Amino acid sequence: MKIPKSHPRYASLVRRERLVQGWRDGIVVPEGLIAQGRGEAFDYLFGEETTAPALVAEKAAAALLLTAERPVLSVNGNAAALAPKEVARLARAVSARIEVNLFHRTEARVGRIVKRLAAAGAREVLGPRPDARIPGLESKRALCHREGLYSADVVLVPLEDGDRTEALVRMGKTVISIDLNPLSRTSQRASVPIVDELTRALPSIERFARELRTDLPEARRIARAYDRRGNLRATLDFLGWRLRGVKPKADRPARLR
Ligand code: ATP
Repeated sequence: MKIPKSHPRYASLVRRERLVQGWRDGIVVPEGLIAQGRGEAFDYLFGEETTAPALVAEKAAAALLLTAERPVLSVNGNAAALAPKEVARLARAVSARIEVNLFHRTEARVGRIVKRLAAAGAREVLGPRPDARIPGLESKRALCHREGLYSADVVLVPLEDGDRTEALVRMGKTVISIDLNPLSRTSQRASVPIVDELTRALPSIERFARELRTDLPEARRIARAYDRRGNLRATLDFLGWRLRGVKPKADRPARLR
């Protein structure tokens, strides 16, 4: 479908189209489409823009990824369909590994996602032939790579579910999440919850990383100064402020039939 650029919600419609195409290509599962809908509802409430608290969390995320020993970007079907280039660019900017990690895992889908990321410029992508497990998770959701997620110290998990976020935190990792729902178990459990839309958050983290790359002491200072509770509080306060400011339209309503 060709979406006119003049449409007031152009960016959101493009994201929908990318996901539907990702579903047709066997990269996105139907559950992923539902997750996107939930995210969109929150994005609407936030005004479909990156908030000031999200920028603070994105800068802290950039600082943590840059100063990590073994940073890993975890990628699922939705992230691969929505932002493969952004993932590849961020991985290069912070010298992180990329690992495909799926909730609804099939080897064929892992393979297709690896291909999609490689086509978008990602260098080495882990995912096929996992050789380790995340403790505390059952079935295929636990599968990962010793060289990747298993031994990572800082992990970025876009659009992750709460259980896995919690399991990674329990392993002692610093977990950075990207999730538009500030109340999700993921946002509540992550070490650095970024409450922003994925395709805005990834380039923003990359921009901060490129700025901080030449000043690692400053990156360490930013990582230390980050206040998780204060940041989530500010996000919820912003949401409350926006909702209180919404006034019903004064125009006459459409006639009821
Ligand atoms: P949890 O287990 O953490 O409580 P959940 O059950 O809602 O959350 P999922 O159904 O896996 O977990 O949904 C993933 C989350 O991703 C949702 O909370 C949704 O708000 C968020 N999300 C979906 N699409 C985007 C997007 N494009 N950008 C940012 N967040 C998104």
